[in-house]
Amino acid sequence: MASAENRCSLCGEPAVARLVEPERRLCAAHFIEDVEARVIAAIRRERMVFPGDRIAVGLSGGKDSTALLLVLHRLLPALGADLVAVTIDEGIAGYREETLRAAEALTAELGVEHAIVTFADLFGDDLDGLLVGREAQGCAVCGVLRRRALAEGVKRVGATRLATGHNLDDEAQSVLMNILRGDLPRLLQDTSTGSPGHFVPRIKPLAVLSEKEIVTYLLLRGYFRDLPECPYAGTALRSEVRTMLAELEHRHPGTMVRLMRFRDGIRESFSLPGPAKALSTCRICGELTSGEVCRVCALLGREER
Ligand code: SF4
Repeated sequence: MASAENRCSLCGEPAVARLVEPERRLCAAHFIEDVEARVIAAIRRERMVFPGDRIAVGLSGGKDSTALLLVLHRLLPALGADLVAVTIDEGIAGYREETLRAAEALTAELGVEHAIVTFADLFGDDLDGLLVGREAQGCAVCGVLRRRALAEGVKRVGATRLATGHNLDDEAQSVLMNILRGDLPRLLQDTSTGSPGHFVPRIKPLAVLSEKEIVTYLLLRGYFRDLPECPYAGTALRSEVRTMLAELEHRHPGTMVRLMRFRDGIRESFSLPGPAKALSTCRICGELTSGEVCRVCALLGREER
């Protein structure tokens, strides 16, 4: 039997989670309710979704994007918006096959339209092939190509916004990484508004939830699956920052939330120096770029024909 201190603060049922700010213990049903209420509050506060929007979830099949699809599937009808999913198949042996199957099963179960964009179709080879001889740059190369592939997917499904599964841990890691790199422009950059006619705005509805809360949500809804990790994941600075932040959060609870407040404070106090760089079109592929050749063509070593 649950002790008196380990009961839900709202109904007295056995608690499954203890949350802070405000301090509360919640049973399974109230934890799920609490998570969804915080997400919809963030969506409303930050004006992420408007009636008539068609929201594309970037669905990797991993835990964050799975939770995002589940939450939005419940919340979007009340907001008058439509839901669709886009999965990028980078072509990573031993990893992507299983997550792709998970994404297909979930969208079929929820009845959500699902588009799959492959690196092989878009870039002529899969990531494993493109990385031969430069495996250590896995995430850097993948990141640039994934952004292009997601933009292509969003275009194909006619979405008005792209929702990604970034959680509080991811966001706090990005803040710290930008500080460690001394990259102020990136710290100040806000991709949530997009650029009319150019880039589709990105939204991050789960940025108010920690990774631990997302895992608990999935477990309680019966959707947690232990899936393989990307074999290139350890190549990024992010993986070192993740370990460091997790330790800091454990010893000093609230570290991640304070980092996010620091970033928001900086964004309010500063604006990017000078006017935004004008965009032109890549002379090789015709996509928008700030230089003559876009990063995708440069990475792939494409040449003008
Ligand atoms: Fe790509 Fe890196 Fe993510 Fe793997 S961990 S899918 S290489 S960005």
